Amino acid sequence: MKSIKELLEETSIPQPKPSGGSPPPEPERYRCSFCQDRGIIFDGEVARPCTCMNQKKLENRFRHARIARSLIQCRFEGFDIGYYDPPEHRENAQRALAAAQAFVASCLSNQYGLGLLFTGSVGSGKTFLAAAIANALTEKERQVLFLIVPDLLDELRGTYDRRGEATELDLLDTARSIPILILDDLGAHNYTEWARNRLYTIINYRLNEQLPTVITTNLSLQEMEEYLGERTTSRLVQMSRVFRLTCEQDIRLRKYQEREGKRM
Ligand SMILES: [Zn+2]
Repeated sequence: MKSIKELLEETSIPQPKPSGGSPPPEPERYRCSFCQDRGIIFDGEVARPCTCMNQKKLENRFRHARIARSLIQCRFEGFDIGYYDPPEHRENAQRALAAAQAFVASCLSNQYGLGLLFTGSVGSGKTFLAAAIANALTEKERQVLFLIVPDLLDELRGTYDRRGEATELDLLDTARSIPILILDDLGAHNYTEWARNRLYTIINYRLNEQLPTVITTNLSLQEMEEYLGERTTSRLVQMSRVFRLTCEQDIRLRKYQEREGKRM
Protein backbone atom coordinates (compact mmCIF):
# COMPACT_ATOMS: atom_id res chain seq x y z
CA MET A 1 0.00 0.00 0.00
CA LYS A 2 1.27 3.48 -0.83
CA SER A 3 2.02 6.02 1.85
CA ILE A 4 -0.26 9.02 2.15
CA LYS A 5 2.59 11.24 1.09
CA GLU A 6 3.10 9.30 -2.11
CA LEU A 7 -0.60 9.41 -2.79
CA LEU A 8 -0.76 13.14 -2.30
CA GLU A 9 2.24 13.66 -4.52
CA GLU A 10 0.65 11.75 -7.35
CA THR A 11 -1.24 14.60 -8.88
CA SER A 12 -2.56 13.98 -12.34
CA ILE A 13 -0.27 15.64 -14.83
CA PRO A 14 -2.16 16.80 -17.91
CA GLN A 15 -0.92 15.00 -21.01
CA PRO A 16 -0.19 17.11 -24.08
CA LYS A 17 -2.94 16.80 -26.67
CA PRO A 18 -1.78 14.82 -29.69
CA SER A 19 -1.82 16.86 -32.86
CA GLY A 20 -2.83 15.34 -36.20
CA GLY A 21 -0.32 12.88 -37.61
CA SER A 22 1.66 12.57 -34.39
CA PRO A 23 2.12 9.26 -32.58
CA PRO A 24 -1.06 7.69 -31.16
CA PRO A 25 -2.16 8.98 -27.76
CA GLU A 26 -0.76 7.14 -24.76
CA PRO A 27 -3.24 4.92 -22.99
CA GLU A 28 -4.94 6.80 -20.16
CA ARG A 29 -3.18 6.44 -16.84
CA TYR A 30 -5.23 5.58 -13.80
CA ARG A 31 -4.27 6.16 -10.22
CA CYS A 32 -5.84 2.83 -9.38
CA SER A 33 -5.30 0.10 -11.92
CA PHE A 34 -7.79 -2.23 -10.21
CA CYS A 35 -10.88 -0.09 -10.67
CA GLN A 36 -9.62 2.47 -13.25
CA ASP A 37 -10.56 5.17 -10.72
CA ARG A 38 -14.23 4.18 -10.73
CA GLY A 39 -14.06 3.17 -7.06
CA ILE A 40 -15.92 -0.07 -7.67
CA ILE A 41 -14.91 -3.46 -8.98
CA PHE A 42 -17.25 -5.88 -10.69
CA ASP A 43 -17.14 -9.56 -9.78
CA GLY A 44 -19.40 -10.76 -12.57
CA GLU A 45 -22.71 -9.13 -11.67
CA VAL A 46 -21.68 -8.09 -8.19
CA ALA A 47 -20.11 -4.69 -7.56
CA ARG A 48 -17.93 -4.08 -4.52
CA PRO A 49 -16.00 -0.97 -3.42
CA CYS A 50 -12.34 -0.96 -4.42
CA THR A 51 -9.75 -0.74 -1.65
CA CYS A 52 -8.51 2.54 -3.12
CA MET A 53 -11.68 4.15 -1.73
CA ASN A 54 -10.29 3.79 1.78
CA GLN A 55 -7.13 5.58 0.72
CA LYS A 56 -9.22 8.33 -0.80
CA LYS A 57 -11.21 8.73 2.40
CA LEU A 58 -7.98 8.94 4.36
CA GLU A 59 -6.59 11.60 2.00
CA ASN A 60 -9.79 13.59 2.34
CA ARG A 61 -9.60 13.42 6.09
CA PHE A 62 -6.07 14.85 6.00
CA ARG A 63 -7.21 17.56 3.62
CA HIS A 64 -10.15 18.49 5.82
CA ALA A 65 -7.87 18.59 8.84
CA ARG A 66 -5.73 21.10 6.87
CA ILE A 67 -2.55 19.24 7.76
CA ALA A 68 0.18 20.62 5.52
CA ARG A 69 1.80 18.19 3.12
CA SER A 70 5.19 18.75 4.73
CA LEU A 71 3.80 17.66 8.10
CA ILE A 72 1.93 14.55 7.06
CA GLN A 73 4.97 12.35 7.67
CA CYS A 74 5.47 13.52 11.27
CA ARG A 75 5.06 10.50 13.55
CA PHE A 76 5.97 9.94 17.19
CA GLU A 77 8.43 7.24 16.11
CA GLY A 78 10.23 9.87 14.04
CA PHE A 79 10.67 12.25 16.98
CA ASP A 80 14.43 11.99 17.45
CA ILE A 81 15.41 12.41 21.09
CA GLY A 82 19.04 12.37 19.91
CA TYR A 83 18.72 16.01 18.87
CA TYR A 84 18.19 16.99 22.49
CA ASP A 85 21.32 17.23 24.55
CA PRO A 86 22.53 17.87 27.22
CA PRO A 87 20.35 15.65 29.46
CA GLU A 88 18.08 18.39 30.79
CA HIS A 89 16.95 19.14 27.25
CA ARG A 90 16.44 15.45 26.64
CA GLU A 91 14.30 15.07 29.75
CA ASN A 92 12.11 17.96 28.62
CA ALA A 93 11.74 16.42 25.18
CA GLN A 94 10.89 13.01 26.61
CA ARG A 95 8.26 14.53 28.89
CA ALA A 96 6.73 16.44 25.98
CA LEU A 97 6.71 13.34 23.76
CA ALA A 98 5.10 11.23 26.49
CA ALA A 99 2.49 13.95 27.04
CA ALA A 100 1.72 14.07 23.31
CA GLN A 101 1.25 10.30 23.16
CA ALA A 102 -0.88 10.32 26.31
CA PHE A 103 -2.98 13.10 24.79
CA VAL A 104 -3.70 10.99 21.70
CA ALA A 105 -4.66 8.02 23.88
CA SER A 106 -6.95 10.18 25.99
CA CYS A 107 -8.62 11.71 22.91
CA LEU A 108 -9.30 8.23 21.59
CA SER A 109 -11.05 7.19 24.79
CA ASN A 110 -12.66 10.46 25.84
CA GLN A 111 -13.91 13.35 23.75
CA TYR A 112 -13.37 15.93 26.50
CA GLY A 113 -10.35 16.85 28.51
CA LEU A 114 -7.30 19.02 28.92
CA GLY A 115 -5.21 20.16 25.98
CA LEU A 116 -1.50 20.73 25.59
CA LEU A 117 0.57 23.88 25.36
CA PHE A 118 4.05 23.38 23.94
CA THR A 119 6.40 26.26 24.51
CA GLY A 120 9.97 26.57 23.33
CA SER A 121 12.24 28.37 20.92
CA VAL A 122 12.06 28.20 17.13
CA GLY A 123 13.04 24.76 15.83
CA SER A 124 12.67 22.93 19.13
CA GLY A 125 10.24 20.34 17.78
CA LYS A 126 6.91 21.81 18.91
CA THR A 127 5.28 21.73 15.50
CA PHE A 128 6.56 18.22 14.91
CA LEU A 129 4.80 16.97 18.03
CA ALA A 130 1.62 18.88 17.23
CA ALA A 131 1.60 17.41 13.72
CA ALA A 132 2.28 13.91 15.03
CA ILE A 133 -0.75 14.30 17.30
CA ALA A 134 -2.89 15.56 14.42
CA ASN A 135 -1.79 12.73 12.12
CA ALA A 136 -2.32 10.00 14.70
CA LEU A 137 -5.83 11.24 15.49
CA THR A 138 -6.76 11.83 11.86
CA GLU A 139 -5.75 8.27 11.02
CA LYS A 140 -8.02 7.10 13.82
CA GLU A 141 -10.87 9.02 12.19
CA ARG A 142 -11.07 11.73 14.81
CA GLN A 143 -12.06 15.19 13.63
CA VAL A 144 -9.03 17.44 13.79
CA LEU A 145 -8.36 20.94 12.52
CA PHE A 146 -4.74 22.08 12.23
CA LEU A 147 -4.52 25.86 12.00
CA ILE A 148 -1.29 27.77 11.57
CA VAL A 149 -1.96 30.95 13.49
CA PRO A 150 -0.36 33.45 11.06
CA ASP A 151 -2.43 31.92 8.24
CA LEU A 152 -5.53 32.06 10.40
CA LEU A 153 -4.83 35.74 11.10
CA ASP A 154 -4.57 36.41 7.37
CA GLU A 155 -7.89 34.71 6.86
CA LEU A 156 -9.41 36.67 9.73
CA ARG A 157 -8.13 39.90 8.23
CA GLY A 158 -9.70 38.85 4.95
CA THR A 159 -12.98 38.30 6.75
CA TYR A 160 -12.67 41.67 8.43
CA ASP A 161 -12.08 43.43 5.11
CA ARG A 162 -15.01 41.70 3.43
CA ARG A 163 -17.41 41.19 6.30
CA GLY A 164 -19.70 38.22 5.99
CA GLU A 165 -17.63 36.06 3.66
CA ALA A 166 -19.28 32.78 4.56
CA THR A 167 -16.36 30.38 4.16
CA GLU A 168 -14.05 32.18 6.56
CA LEU A 169 -16.70 32.58 9.20
CA ASP A 170 -17.31 28.87 8.81
CA LEU A 171 -13.65 28.33 9.61
CA LEU A 172 -14.10 30.19 12.89
CA ASP A 173 -17.16 28.13 13.72
CA THR A 174 -15.25 24.97 12.93
CA ALA A 175 -12.28 26.09 15.04
CA ARG A 176 -14.64 26.67 17.93
CA SER A 177 -16.46 23.38 17.81
CA ILE A 178 -14.14 20.84 16.16
CA PRO A 179 -13.42 17.98 18.59
CA ILE A 180 -9.65 18.53 18.41
CA LEU A 181 -8.07 21.85 17.45
CA ILE A 182 -4.37 22.44 16.87
CA LEU A 183 -3.17 26.05 16.89
CA ASP A 184 0.39 26.06 15.61
CA ASP A 185 2.72 29.03 16.08
CA LEU A 186 0.77 31.25 18.41
CA GLY A 187 3.65 33.70 18.26
CA ALA A 188 4.58 37.34 18.08
CA HIS A 189 2.24 38.21 15.23
CA ASN A 190 0.26 41.29 14.50
CA TYR A 191 -3.01 40.59 16.32
CA THR A 192 -5.63 43.20 15.59
CA GLU A 193 -8.21 43.83 18.28
CA TRP A 194 -10.75 42.05 16.12
CA ALA A 195 -8.54 38.98 15.63
CA ARG A 196 -7.76 38.95 19.33
CA ASN A 197 -11.47 38.87 20.11
CA ARG A 198 -12.06 36.09 17.63
CA LEU A 199 -9.26 34.04 19.20
CA TYR A 200 -10.74 34.70 22.60
CA THR A 201 -14.17 33.43 21.59
CA ILE A 202 -12.59 30.26 20.15
CA ILE A 203 -10.56 29.61 23.30
CA ASN A 204 -13.36 30.53 25.68
CA TYR A 205 -15.86 28.28 23.95
CA ARG A 206 -13.44 25.37 23.92
CA LEU A 207 -12.62 25.82 27.58
CA ASN A 208 -16.30 25.87 28.52
CA GLU A 209 -17.06 22.83 26.41
CA GLN A 210 -13.87 21.05 27.55
CA LEU A 211 -12.81 20.46 23.96
CA PRO A 212 -9.10 19.62 23.82
CA THR A 213 -6.77 22.08 22.08
CA VAL A 214 -3.08 21.73 21.28
CA ILE A 215 -1.10 24.94 21.04
CA THR A 216 2.50 25.62 20.11
CA THR A 217 4.15 28.91 20.91
CA ASN A 218 7.56 30.47 21.28
CA LEU A 219 6.14 33.12 23.59
CA SER A 220 6.50 33.14 27.34
CA LEU A 221 3.27 33.47 29.30
CA GLN A 222 4.09 37.10 29.93
CA GLU A 223 4.57 37.76 26.24
CA MET A 224 1.40 35.85 25.51
CA GLU A 225 -0.53 38.21 27.77
CA GLU A 226 1.01 41.10 25.88
CA TYR A 227 -0.09 39.79 22.48
CA LEU A 228 -3.35 38.03 23.27
CA GLY A 229 -4.51 39.71 26.43
CA GLU A 230 -4.81 38.45 29.96
CA ARG A 231 -8.23 36.82 29.66
CA THR A 232 -7.23 34.60 26.71
CA THR A 233 -3.88 33.66 28.26
CA SER A 234 -5.40 32.69 31.58
CA ARG A 235 -7.93 30.48 29.80
CA LEU A 236 -5.20 28.84 27.75
CA VAL A 237 -3.38 27.92 30.93
CA GLN A 238 -6.58 26.66 32.54
CA MET A 239 -7.32 24.31 29.67
CA SER A 240 -3.80 23.00 29.01
CA ARG A 241 -0.93 21.04 30.42
CA VAL A 242 2.18 23.06 29.65
CA PHE A 243 5.43 21.52 28.36
CA ARG A 244 8.61 23.25 27.44
CA LEU A 245 10.87 22.01 24.68
CA THR A 246 14.43 23.22 24.83
CA CYS A 247 17.43 22.62 22.62
CA GLU A 248 20.82 24.15 22.01
CA GLN A 249 20.30 24.70 18.31
CA ASP A 250 17.40 24.91 15.89
CA ILE A 251 16.66 21.28 14.97
CA ARG A 252 15.57 22.25 11.45
CA LEU A 253 19.00 23.82 10.97
CA ARG A 254 20.70 20.69 12.25
CA LYS A 255 18.65 18.51 9.93
CA TYR A 256 19.57 20.82 7.09
CA GLN A 257 23.26 20.58 7.92
CA GLU A 258 23.05 16.80 8.04
CA ARG A 259 21.25 16.70 4.71
CA GLU A 260 23.68 19.06 3.02
CA GLY A 261 26.80 17.57 4.63
CA LYS A 262 27.36 20.64 6.85
CA ARG A 263 27.90 22.92 3.87
CA MET A 264 26.62 26.24 5.19
ZN1 LIG B 1 -9.50 1.39 -7.08
